[in-house]
Amino acid sequence: MTYSPLRFLPTILKKSRPIHLVMFVTKVCNARCPFCFYLEDANFSLEEGDMSMEEITQVSKSLGTMLWIAFSGGEVFLRKDLPQIAQTFYKNNKPSIMFFPTNGIQADRILATTEEILKTCPKTAVTVKISIDAIGDLHSQMRGVKNTFENCVKTYEALNPLLDKYPNFDLAVNTVFAQANQDHVAEVIEYVRKWRVTTHTLSLARGDLKNPEWKNVNMELYRKHVDRLAKEMRSGDHPIYRFWGGRIKAAQDIIQREMIYKTAVEGRWQTPCYAGRINVTVTHDGKLYPCEELSEDFRIADMRKEGSFDIQKWLHSDRANQIKQRIDNGCFCTHECYAMTNLLFNPKLSAKILSGAMKLPKAKGPRPAAKPTA
Ligand code: SF4
Repeated sequence: MTYSPLRFLPTILKKSRPIHLVMFVTKVCNARCPFCFYLEDANFSLEEGDMSMEEITQVSKSLGTMLWIAFSGGEVFLRKDLPQIAQTFYKNNKPSIMFFPTNGIQADRILATTEEILKTCPKTAVTVKISIDAIGDLHSQMRGVKNTFENCVKTYEALNPLLDKYPNFDLAVNTVFAQANQDHVAEVIEYVRKWRVTTHTLSLARGDLKNPEWKNVNMELYRKHVDRLAKEMRSGDHPIYRFWGGRIKAAQDIIQREMIYKTAVEGRWQTPCYAGRINVTVTHDGKLYPCEELSEDFRIADMRKEGSFDIQKWLHSDRANQIKQRIDNGCFCTHECYAMTNLLFNPKLSAKILSGAMKLPKAKGPRPAAKPTA
């Protein structure tokens, strides 16, 4: 039994505090993806500057119970004390979900760390999401390191048995939809269908990239893929989403992908954004933002420099209020993680998701995840 997401139903009406944290734990990475926000950083391979365990503990203690903590980087599994970081949030924030994205390069390390987290955080759903952008060499080229694809397969094979051992474990895959791989995404979808994963997400390349050409994608092709996935979900002919609440997640993904397509094509706001209210982002060096839009203009606080890691205090500051007002005036983007909470906690759209979920058939499959408890 894992901590129930239903604890956060009142947030649909009252958005008084953060329930979703994106926590960058390191900027260190063993890949060189051209679509990474941190690629410009000269100290790409040094841990120097990453928040200490003590600073992270202060962040955790300043927050209440959390729905979702998404760790980010860099490669999160390169941070040696990742299990201790997860345990700190587990103890202080009782998160329903902890999410660990990975480039899948170091299977042994990812396996050992994941198992330690699963053992010590049994009441949280622990999701490891492997990045697969293409099959074979193209994926390794996109990630800038030889044999990355083969290593991702090893990581999947190493983690797969944990699904039978830990009811709170989820395996997932993400594919970046970028100019370099957009013609190969169908192949990736077919490949991943054979894996025991609970979700396969598509993320449009976004942000301030060194080579903005990566974001220059064919949106009609994106539409074709998301329409196909939606059709499969509606017919029940979909091998994933086999977990408690899977139909709600599937309905949300259908609506979310349609909304992301519209946002990108029309270049405008589709729904209010709750960044800075229920969602917050903390960078590896302790800067607080409403979201991953990491420009100076959006920075709420440099918590390390300003001597306090009390997130709730910063979110009620004048600066935070000004930023939230700017967001309310029609800020838009295609960031999938934020789109998810913006949909689920919007009263009108959450009702639409629920009615959409009731019309979906149950996905077939061998392993439903543990049922959450209150
Ligand atoms: S719309 Fe996007 S960029 Fe704007 S605040 Fe929300 S998440 Fe950030």
